[in-house]
Amino acid sequence: MSSKKKSLTIGVLGFQGDIEENVSATKQALQELQIDGNVQLVRYPEDVEKVDGLILPGGESTVQSTLAAIQRSLPVIKKRISEGMPVMGTCAGMIMLSKRAYDRVVGDTKQKLIGNLDIVIERNAFGRQSESFEADLSIGMLGKEAFKGVFIRAPAVSEVGKDVEVIAKLNNKVVAVRQKNIIGTAFHPELSGDSRMHRQFVKMAVDFSRKSA
Ligand code: GLN
Repeated sequence: MSSKKKSLTIGVLGFQGDIEENVSATKQALQELQIDGNVQLVRYPEDVEKVDGLILPGGESTVQSTLAAIQRSLPVIKKRISEGMPVMGTCAGMIMLSKRAYDRVVGDTKQKLIGNLDIVIERNAFGRQSESFEADLSIGMLGKEAFKGVFIRAPAVSEVGKDVEVIAKLNNKVVAVRQKNIIGTAFHPELSGDSRMHRQFVKMAVDFSRKSA
């Protein structure tokens, strides 16, 4: 018996940062994987409940988490991640997912964090805006071909918990991690012109939506 298949919905946290770039990279990934799905901006708790996966874009983590907290979305995001909803945080998004963050220069930033990802973050670990750069990364789960990492005021991961897998390093600094349904990258896959990371994430969301159907 065939019941009507619900199409996949990927959310992008829509407060600040490179929202549109993540929307386009996700649409491209859906198209390349030939998956019937749509991408929606997420701001309010009820939006968070509707998606099969959520992307937290790069930008400014303090601004994004303050706005998400005002809308009371942070606890709902936290709850859904602990229920298994896939989430991918790029740069500021990874900072928001971490359990603790400090700034390389100013120390503890006392910002609101979602906290499901068992890592400690050093913000601005590679310097400020003028020290933004690109670097080829080797990311085994995406295949042999190097992935272009775009680093903009990028953080690095300074401590990882026992369930956290390191998926990319640059000059001995950890720049991408995975903990079950959570991916965090210090760089911006949405700006690399390479949709492999978004495709990987979409596949995780497909698996989750099948399980929760
Ligand atoms: N440095 C920013 C922060 O701490 C992150 C930069 C980015 O997302 N490109 O929020």
